[in-house]
Amino acid sequence: MAEYTPMIQQYLNIKSHYKDAFLFFRLGDFYEMFFDDAIQASRELEITLTQRDGGKEKIPMCGVPYHSAQNYIKTLIDRGYKVAICEQVEDPKQAKGVVRREVVQLITPGTVMEDQMLDEKENNYLVSITPFPENTFVIAYNDLTTGENSVSFVRDGWDAAVSELYNLPVKEIVVPSDFSETWKESLLQLMKVTVSFEDETAIPEEYQHLLNNINEVRLQEGFGRLFQYILRTQKRSLSHMQPAVYIEIQNYMKLDLYSKRNLEITETIRKKGKEGSLLWVLDHTVTAMGSRLLKKWLDRPLLDRKEIEKRHAQVEGMMQQFLEREALRESLDRVYDLERLSGRVSYGNVNARDLIQLKKSLGQIPAIRETLRSFNQDDLNRLADEMNPLTEVKDLLEKSIMDDPPLSIKEGGIIKDGFNEKLDEYRDASRNGKKWIAEFEQKEREKTGIKSLKVGYNKVFGYYIEVTKANLHLLPEGMYERKQTLTNAERYISPELKEKETLILEAEEKSVDLEYEIFIQIREQIKRYIPKLQKLAEQISQIDVLQSFAAVSEQNQYTKPSFTGDATLRVKNGRHPVVEQVMNDGAYVPNDVYMDSENFILLITGPNMAGKSTYMRQVALTILMAQIGCFVPASEADLPIFDQIFTRIGAADDLVAGQSTFMVEMLEANHAISHATENSLILLDEIGRGTSTYDGMALAQAIIEYIHKNIGAKTLFSTHYHELTSLEESLTGLKNIHVKAEEHNGEVVFLHKIRDGSADESYGIHVAKLAGLPMELIQRANQILHDLEQTDTSSASEVAAAAEQLSFFTEEKEHDQKPSVSNAEKQIISELKQMDLLEMTPLDALNQLYKLQKKLK
Ligand code: ADP
Repeated sequence: MAEYTPMIQQYLNIKSHYKDAFLFFRLGDFYEMFFDDAIQASRELEITLTQRDGGKEKIPMCGVPYHSAQNYIKTLIDRGYKVAICEQVEDPKQAKGVVRREVVQLITPGTVMEDQMLDEKENNYLVSITPFPENTFVIAYNDLTTGENSVSFVRDGWDAAVSELYNLPVKEIVVPSDFSETWKESLLQLMKVTVSFEDETAIPEEYQHLLNNINEVRLQEGFGRLFQYILRTQKRSLSHMQPAVYIEIQNYMKLDLYSKRNLEITETIRKKGKEGSLLWVLDHTVTAMGSRLLKKWLDRPLLDRKEIEKRHAQVEGMMQQFLEREALRESLDRVYDLERLSGRVSYGNVNARDLIQLKKSLGQIPAIRETLRSFNQDDLNRLADEMNPLTEVKDLLEKSIMDDPPLSIKEGGIIKDGFNEKLDEYRDASRNGKKWIAEFEQKEREKTGIKSLKVGYNKVFGYYIEVTKANLHLLPEGMYERKQTLTNAERYISPELKEKETLILEAEEKSVDLEYEIFIQIREQIKRYIPKLQKLAEQISQIDVLQSFAAVSEQNQYTKPSFTGDATLRVKNGRHPVVEQVMNDGAYVPNDVYMDSENFILLITGPNMAGKSTYMRQVALTILMAQIGCFVPASEADLPIFDQIFTRIGAADDLVAGQSTFMVEMLEANHAISHATENSLILLDEIGRGTSTYDGMALAQAIIEYIHKNIGAKTLFSTHYHELTSLEESLTGLKNIHVKAEEHNGEVVFLHKIRDGSADESYGIHVAKLAGLPMELIQRANQILHDLEQTDTSSASEVAAAAEQLSFFTEEKEHDQKPSVSNAEKQIISELKQMDLLEMTPLDALNQLYKLQKKLK
């Protein structure tokens, strides 16, 4: 039987090591794909699927041109696939048989380095998760583009591990091969990441320094897994990797998965975009680094009062000096992505334009320091002193790299004159040579008397002398050696010209080679400064986030919060930072909040659409903003420091995870009550809504009582069960508040104003009217409501029960196909109808009745 051709055999052999990736197999100017890869890639990339003779059979094939491969790779990576780049690793001219090929890089969503494939405002995290006994997980993070590494312990089980990762720009997660299938599924569904496997966890000798700060063996193992995966995929220098930093997650406010999602911190629930999120309001950063840091701060609000107050003081300092702040913004705006630039320097894919960006960025540092010094705020002044302007790097780049260099680092035109003597010599030789050529041309014209004689150059023949046909008769026979005939002219060479040509070309070639060498040397020199550059990048990002806070706080009239040091929370004229942005100026109605250790549960009633859930979210967001160091949307705010925020806020069904609303509701509630402490904030919005009235109300009440008795967390609880408001009498820590709505001429007007006490009516029908339900239906509902109220206005719970029955009844009507009475019952009814009571004795009647009853039992 025929065999596959040697090349296809080579392909299959390499492919067997990269089963989970598209293998981009270099063939001349193309990357080709074969077999299933080709079929799938042609679909994903919308490129033509062809066939190729593989020896044994025709095989499917498709390909992308080498020079435009980046875009195709990006598409695949964005969709969560991996791409193995397989290059020819020997010169085809030298090769005996099939050219040797090797995979030189495995590009995966978490290890992308190419600029075009990255979102500059987001980190690109690769994460490893390593499970250990006792519900413990080690999570290790890496951003290959910036070289940052960190590790942390999560000790409260799987949910906590997922919460830790949620909201972070994680693109890929590396786990051991025996990782639980259920966990893997939940990563795929919740996080939408690529999951990869790695079992090797030892760190090679030359990278041991990355573990300088990490002694714990489990942390080392977790980081080792991550690192090995990077080594395996990248196959190159990883010298920009920073030593791993241990993050003690206990030092930051914890936000569980649900809160991160429900509070719409970095993206909205519905559209999944940044617009409409808290990040959207707060992000006035001007550098990509700042934008990335802001996300990190949002993900890890602080717990340490001093740290928080330090940020507030810095923001305040910047707010007080508008002009200086503007100057600072302008300078920052001219700073490029130092973090990723240094990443590329060590990764080896930096070009001369990148180095010019580096130079320009460093050029801004003196101005930034000077501006920082001009603020009347000690910490900002100190920051200026701590910044290292790296003048030596800037000077080096200033002296060496041309201002507008080409993209390629292999074709010369990069290094300035005067930087390197040898290079200058070559350049002189080439320039002198060219001058010689010009003179030669002049001389030959004079000699021959042909004015149009010219000396030209092309790649095939090198330098030549060209004489037009009209002038040929003037040229003495045998003066030059003929080389090429054109329609209108003849081209010649002469020994003298060729000799000079060799010198010029040699000089040019040498100078291009030398430029490349010099460039590499400069790159190596800069490599040594990478830790300092990274430090500088960190400082710049911090300044950028602080100025962003200052700008937003001023623009939106936020206030500096103060910390009470006890359990009192007092907010005057608080607003929802996002909702107020999307409303007309002044349309948002501010509200106060007061809670302390005596009154820690607020039970909020009020009609739908009154603003209950907005009020609750506003409290949570205010706390979050305060603890990341920003000012808050209120006229006054005294706050305790919260250790965690939990939320159960009516959101869309968790369809992704395939759970019903009610199940999600209970999971979220359970999560809150099993982890909250008295220093936590819990938001429970309309809990119990997903089940029947009694069930829901009973659960709601039991949850409130539980929090009251066992936790003592500050809790905001909104409900449409008015019955619950009577809890104020039995639970001392609970206080009723409500959102006011007023009725004018049969129309409801929402005032969005929070008042003490409970709401009296639910106005549900009015909302239905506002929503445009048919008038007939609205009138009918009003009538039913009226009847129900007549039944017994004294007992609210009976009204609820009646409503319950009403809904039961309506449900039955909807299903009137189904018999509402059984056949046995029907028979009894007909027997009853047929009985002629007047003809019966009382005893007969009694006997009949006895029989009928017996049938029913
Ligand atoms: P509820 O939870 O009571 O059903 P929401 O909190 O969802 O009500 O609020 C309904 C709408 O009312 C919001 O979308 C918002 O537009 C508006 N709203 C809420 N609070 C305020 C406020 N304080 N000022 C102005 N408009 C508000």
